[in-house]
Amino acid sequence: MEIDSLFALIKYPLTAEEHQLIQRAYDFAKSKHERQKRNSGEPYFVHVFAVGKNCAELGMDVETIIGGLLHDTLEDTDATEEEIRELFGENILFLVKGVTKLGKLKYRGQERHVESMRKFFVAMAEDLRVLIIKLADRLHNIQTLEHVRPDKQVRIAVETIAVHAALAGRLGMGKLKGLLEDGAFPFAYPKEYAQTKVLFDHRMPEAQKTLQAAEATLEKTLVDFSIKNHSMDSRVKHLFSLHRKLLKYQMDIERVYDIVALRVQVDTVADCYQVLGLVHMVWKPIPGRIKDYIALPKPNGYQSLHTTVVTEHGIIEIQIRTYAMNQEADMGVASHFLYKENKFTEGYNSGAVPANKKLDWLDELRELQGVVSKPSRFLEQLNHDLFKNRIFVFTPKGDVIDLPEDASPIDFSYAIHSRIGETTSSARINGKMVPLGAKLQNGDIVEIITSKNSKPSNKWLDYAKTTMARRKIRAYVTEHGGLLQKFLVKE
Ligand code: MN
Repeated sequence: MEIDSLFALIKYPLTAEEHQLIQRAYDFAKSKHERQKRNSGEPYFVHVFAVGKNCAELGMDVETIIGGLLHDTLEDTDATEEEIRELFGENILFLVKGVTKLGKLKYRGQERHVESMRKFFVAMAEDLRVLIIKLADRLHNIQTLEHVRPDKQVRIAVETIAVHAALAGRLGMGKLKGLLEDGAFPFAYPKEYAQTKVLFDHRMPEAQKTLQAAEATLEKTLVDFSIKNHSMDSRVKHLFSLHRKLLKYQMDIERVYDIVALRVQVDTVADCYQVLGLVHMVWKPIPGRIKDYIALPKPNGYQSLHTTVVTEHGIIEIQIRTYAMNQEADMGVASHFLYKENKFTEGYNSGAVPANKKLDWLDELRELQGVVSKPSRFLEQLNHDLFKNRIFVFTPKGDVIDLPEDASPIDFSYAIHSRIGETTSSARINGKMVPLGAKLQNGDIVEIITSKNSKPSNKWLDYAKTTMARRKIRAYVTEHGGLLQKFLVKE
């Protein structure tokens, strides 16, 4: 039976009633969506079933899984709120309504972007599970994006990286974030994707060799020093996160040491530090690359020790953490909904997140909702830590341009088109004239004024942060500067 593939993903015991309720939701969604088809030509039910399964795979509770199965019934079928309340109860109706309210986001124009972010955070503050269903929904949509019209593909993919993956990251759901980003990457930025893939494929075999040699050596050391119940595996860097790192290192993949990382899991925090000591005993660490996220966790709760060491077979990053930290790093907030002995009976809004795992920033968010009335102020506050290394700025028409932090109007104009880049004469940010080297901020509306007489100069290299703009400016200056020199010699 098809539904068994869903039950197989649920890793905690179900009561007879819960089992029945999931079956009922499955049958209900199947009959409600019966005559609908997706763009791929598949029955629509395939989608909602996949979303239910995604929720199960994320370790979510029964209500969320059912919410996933039913998430499109209110919006896309003749199902009514009364029906859902009667068959599944008030809590599940609340989740389905929440997802429906989030609606279909359009990622265009600052005000609307702000509005969609606001909607997300309002939903999140009410019940985090609504957001998780929405992310599970987006994951399936992004994995089936090839069936969507090309112009829509780009918008959906860019939005997925900017909004959904960023949120998953902020919620500490590392695995989901990676899946969303890597699903969206080829559609959002095809050229960068192709470029990253080539570098990745080129570097990978060597990195794997380094990894295997290091793993063998370290395994022997851990056994020699009786580190009990340790296990090792490797994690391969997600392509989009590799892309982000390459941008930071001027596309030089030789400077990326964690394309593959060796991951060591142990039982206790004390074991973690002991393993770190052994690693540094065997190999020299690279200074400045030892990170203690156990003592100082990342804002999303991530905990681990990282160190980059020089082995006889190459440089490699080693990550050391407990089994619990590893679970947390993959699942983030979702791990708070996992089945526990004393299973949560209340919804998130009544305190389902255990007190010791308090998400302070969620509290702040809720407070923010109360005191901040202007959308732009709200966004400003959130953007600060939500989108750490990327900024999103807008053309006067409302198209979104995704740039690295500290980018300037020069980066912006080259990102639109190299012809525009080359003829940039001045720029306005939010209606005000600014120097070409000004720093763009998240949410800025940028207008470029071009002129036939403007041309790139060496000075622009000081302003440009993106590799693309820098490359094009350099090419231009080399080509035309050469002519100028000839001209000067003649004189
Ligand atoms: Mn859907």
